[in-house]
Amino acid sequence: MTTVIPIKPAGKVKITPENKCSFCKGSTCCTYLTHQIDTPRSMEDFDMLLWQISHANTQAYKDSDGWFLLVNNRCLHLAPDGRCGIYHDRPQICRDHSNDECEFDGPCGEGDFDLFFPTYESLLKFCRKKFKRWDERLKATPENKTKVKKKKARKK
Ligand code: SF4
Ligand code: SF4
Repeated sequence: MTTVIPIKPAGKVKITPENKCSFCKGSTCCTYLTHQIDTPRSMEDFDMLLWQISHANTQAYKDSDGWFLLVNNRCLHLAPDGRCGIYHDRPQICRDHSNDECEFDGPCGEGDFDLFFPTYESLLKFCRKKFKRWDERLKATPENKTKVKKKKARKK
């Protein structure tokens, strides 16, 4: 969502809700998806979030509605000319989407979110700041506890 969105100049034509999408070169609203997730609270929750945003084109943010994954992948039905290839059968969420204050009016940026994690590294930095014992979290897993017990048993 931080990319600059190509907007076809409208010249002197007045932009209205009815003609707005026809001037939108990139159809940016069809090039990503967001998915709301439970508010991460524990180290385990953030560890899971780190795994999720380790996947290509996946980011995370928090705004006034909560926490979301942001997947920057274009819809497979988006035609090269910006039209929807399944317009008459498009899902309800696409029908409900309003072009009022959409990406045509300007790209979203970090200022639009309470928190924005564009990369694994940015979230890792946040985790280390939020949890003093972040880097020790994996030492306490049941799997590691078993390994420690086995090591101790072997020493006896
Ligand atoms: S809703 Fe907005 S971003 Fe989507 S195609 Fe229309 S003008 Fe472009
Ligand atoms: S189904 Fe059509 S309207 Fe919906 S995101 Fe894909 S291209 Fe856009």
